[in-house]
Amino acid sequence: MTFATYAPIKRAHPTRTGAHRSTAAIRLLILHTSEGSEGLISAENLTVFIASPRSATNLASYHYVFDTDCVRPCVPDDYVAYATGGANHDGLAACYPGKAYQSAAEWNDEISNLQHEQAARWLADKALQYGIPLVRLTPAQIVAGQRGVCGHVDVTNAYHKSTHTDPGPHFPWDKVIDRARQFTSPIDPTPGLPMEDDMVLIITCNDGVDTERWVTNGPTKSWIPDGAALAALQFTLQSAGKDGTVHSVSPEQFRGYGVSSVQYPGRDAWGVRIV
Ligand SMILES: [Zn+2]
Repeated sequence: MTFATYAPIKRAHPTRTGAHRSTAAIRLLILHTSEGSEGLISAENLTVFIASPRSATNLASYHYVFDTDCVRPCVPDDYVAYATGGANHDGLAACYPGKAYQSAAEWNDEISNLQHEQAARWLADKALQYGIPLVRLTPAQIVAGQRGVCGHVDVTNAYHKSTHTDPGPHFPWDKVIDRARQFTSPIDPTPGLPMEDDMVLIITCNDGVDTERWVTNGPTKSWIPDGAALAALQFTLQSAGKDGTVHSVSPEQFRGYGVSSVQYPGRDAWGVRIV
């Protein structure tokens, strides 16, 4: 299951891509603008351009380009794209056809909003696929090796390998990331939910055979914002044919299960395995 609609891949020209890599390296979901035109055929045109040989002045490629009704792949996730100096080896780069100097109003026009919807769906897909939290990282957090979402500008400020500042000062980060979280989080993390002292979350495998249960999170104050980690657990369960339903229970009920804690492999989630 994916949230975004993907066009068939139009491969970037081989002179525009780097080495094969393991997708395990991917920790940053990086948003760009093309500095080309915004329009109904701009995304397709951009993929045609990326499929042409590199020139002396332009060797860029992106893994994905956001169209108004789909996401267009150009570079497979397990290849390096030349998009974000300093973070090409561990980043997944996606590009809006458009310009970083767009105003808030221009980022809220009809075409931009269609692109935002595709971008949010793409972020949700990749957050689940690679266990990446849907939070925008600061340059310091990028340098520290954290996993998350950022713009080219944040990588520039982290590593100073380029001067690019896209997607620009008026890009609506909260709007796009909040929309992505709506896809990955089964519950609304905003008002009305009890605090962690009153509640933990349990994901159960209701197949009648497998009695394992996963609990997240409880001990830290960050349990609910990390919707991607919770959704990643659910996604894993559902991929294995489990129910994956989220239940809420009280700490008393939780303690009643008799638990042993484990680290969930490959994810940013903290879990307790109930046997
Ligand atoms: Zn860029």
